[in-house]
Amino acid sequence: MTLSEKNVKRAFQSAKTDIINLQREILELNIRQQKIMQMLSVLDKKLVVTDNKAAKNKPRVKPTYVASKAGEKFHTTNCPYAKNIKGKTKIFFANKQDAIAQGFKPCNCVE
Ligand SMILES: [Zn+2]
Repeated sequence: MTLSEKNVKRAFQSAKTDIINLQREILELNIRQQKIMQMLSVLDKKLVVTDNKAAKNKPRVKPTYVASKAGEKFHTTNCPYAKNIKGKTKIFFANKQDAIAQGFKPCNCVE
């Protein structure tokens, strides 16, 4: 074996070792990736559960109240008076306090 042949052989062997090392690293990375994916799917499930809980705990939509800008009283949206209020003059309230705070008085329809 000539010197150059030895050098070539050595270079091949070191390349081979490098490849084996790289393969090991790739394998480890794959395992890590799988673990991360598992963790993510667990987190996803937890998120879905949390979302469902949040949805169940949501309070029911409060009844809204309505008044006419021109009027003095506010009504439930089901009140016949409320239905007579023209679209442009309608004001909606999320609760009684808001309506009262804006100077309106409750109609008999308001409990
Ligand atoms: Zn009313």
